[in-house]
Amino acid sequence: MKILANDGISKSGIIALEDAGFEVITTKVAQEQVANYINTNDVAVLLVRSATKVRKDIIDACPGLKIIGRGGVGMDNIDVEYAREKGIHVINTPASSSDSVAELVFAHLFTGVRFLHDANRNMPLEGDTNFEALKKAYANGIELRGKTLGIIGFGRIGRSVARVALGLGMRVIASDKFVGEAAIRVDFYNGQFINVDIVTEPIEQILKEADFITLHVPAQEGGYVIGKPEFETMKNGVGIVNASRGGVIDEVALIEALDSKKVAFAGLDVFENEPTPAIQVLMHPNVSLTPHIGAATLEAQDRIGTELAEQIASLLKT
Ligand code: NAD
Repeated sequence: MKILANDGISKSGIIALEDAGFEVITTKVAQEQVANYINTNDVAVLLVRSATKVRKDIIDACPGLKIIGRGGVGMDNIDVEYAREKGIHVINTPASSSDSVAELVFAHLFTGVRFLHDANRNMPLEGDTNFEALKKAYANGIELRGKTLGIIGFGRIGRSVARVALGLGMRVIASDKFVGEAAIRVDFYNGQFINVDIVTEPIEQILKEADFITLHVPAQEGGYVIGKPEFETMKNGVGIVNASRGGVIDEVALIEALDSKKVAFAGLDVFENEPTPAIQVLMHPNVSLTPHIGAATLEAQDRIGTELAEQIASLLKT
């Protein structure tokens, strides 16, 4: 049985699938050719990340498709309900990348508070007359320790972020539409751990109290979670990170808030327009950018690959 991994798959995932008797094709097929490729090659399983869109047209055109697998969490690039109505299994690997996304959040936070984005562009060269670089005037850093981190969306990734923040000595406050309280277990490398209960609060409280805000909600149908009114109620000089989904933050309002210094910096892994974000976002001096790479670690990709392999093998073993 053939599997097309159109957005790539880890080596360990390929090995696990081959061991289970599948043939894995890692050729990148252009979006408009996907249906044709699946049919002419008798592909039974289509694996994607966020790049390939699996809409009704592909689902209708591929009656032989048995499984659509999303490596990662968000399934907004797949018409999930429609596929299921047609008898196709739709699977994902929700927990596999939580810790990797959480660590990227801190990469952005540290970049913001220690001006790594400026430092990278301002290293003095021998004989440099760039006095701004030599003065290091940009390096007016602050510590994360002792600051308040507001987490909006307290699911898997939000809680993983909380664990890291608690380990760093930050105060953690969280808000979630559906989670009232969550127990966080912070494991230390030396084998010790602490349990912390976090009771979520209304989003207004987070906006008012947080020194940094990080978003971990799914793609929303009801408009922005953070727009102009929300920015207005935040602390002056707040730092914001979005590694959830573009469209959760109003980017026009964000740029305004950055320009007015209401927001000191933003760290963005996701954008309203992907893969090519708006130029105002790309060029803003106080924005740290990554191109949707939250799950792009060796560990997350290994877990994604092996979890998909296990689910596929179990669904198709008859
Ligand atoms: P999750 O389902 O475990 O948690 C999401 C939480 O958000 C839930 O507890 C839900 O109740 C809450 N929520 C939903 N709407 C809300 C709102 N308007 N306000 C407050 N809370 C709200 O999901 P997760 O595994 O933590 O992932 C979160 C999101 O991160 C995913 O949906 C995905 O879009 C994104 N993600 C990004 C990357 C990346 O590469 N940057 C990788 C994985 C996941």
